[in-house]
Amino acid sequence: MNVGFIGLGNMGKPMAINLATAGHNVIGYDVSNENIDGIKTVKSGAECAKDAQVVITMLPDGEVLVKVAKEILPLMTPGSILLDCSTVDVESTLEVAQMASKFDIGSLDAPVSGGILGAKAGTLTFMVGGVEADFNKAKNLFDIMGQKFVLCGPAGSGQAVKICNNMILGATMIATCEAFALADKLNLSREKMFEVVSTSSGYSWSMNAYCPAPGVGPTSPSDNNYEPGFSAALMLKDLKLSQQAAKSVGAKTPIGEKATELYNDFVEKEGGNIDFSGMLRALEEKS
Ligand code: NAD
Repeated sequence: MNVGFIGLGNMGKPMAINLATAGHNVIGYDVSNENIDGIKTVKSGAECAKDAQVVITMLPDGEVLVKVAKEILPLMTPGSILLDCSTVDVESTLEVAQMASKFDIGSLDAPVSGGILGAKAGTLTFMVGGVEADFNKAKNLFDIMGQKFVLCGPAGSGQAVKICNNMILGATMIATCEAFALADKLNLSREKMFEVVSTSSGYSWSMNAYCPAPGVGPTSPSDNNYEPGFSAALMLKDLKLSQQAAKSVGAKTPIGEKATELYNDFVEKEGGNIDFSGMLRALEEKS
């Protein structure tokens, strides 16, 4: 397949390399104009998009996505697909889907879970919004870049699932950190906390797979001085998107709101480039 790839950052670069390694003809573009071994790069999004059957975008936010889509959609071949893997707000996704349909271009929102390691290993999970025919055309690409891909519903559904999932993640991480901070004050050993909770009703991915207490449970960023992993800045971004979406549809998300406030304070204090499980530090200090 001729694949255009726009946004070759921490995530996009390894995803594009995996597609090229699997034999696709990948042409990449990033504003940084960096040369990347393994893929051909060009000097504009337009060059990247014009002969592509699928254009993949992996960009920082909705504003950049809309700007890029406005530039490339008129140049894309009717029947081709714009596959956006960035995490962005639902409104921008829907705006891009509407624009794409005017040019007879298919569009899929397909944000990912699995982080930089998953992007490199080709083990991402894709949560996809769009129509089945477009999803089927992109399956082969998902299969190379990831290990699981789910069509969640019409345009916007991929972004909706992503922000709901990450709102749960942010909230459960804070709850897990709080419980460790409380357990410390109650003179409970962290190992015993983990042993019991990870096999009891308090278990969660945050506790069992990504334990925020160093030296406890499977190896995670807490064992590496909270080097990300999944940075607190990205968690804050996703929580803010969840609150923006909640506001737009009038949904009550009081815990999501509190989680956003706590990660906002955390990022202001610690900077965003610390793993989101580092929240334990902030709660230890508070207590
Ligand atoms: P990044 O900042 O490393 O990469 C974004 C790239 O887009 C940069 O290289 C930037 O130069 C480029 N870019 C910006 N404007 C552009 C434009 N107009 N045209 C072309 N290129 C442009 O970010 P990332 O970590 O790769 O994340 C990308 C997306 O994936 C984000 O939406 C993020 O929320 C999401 N995401 C990231 C992770 C993660 O662990 N890093 C995990 C899941 C989802």
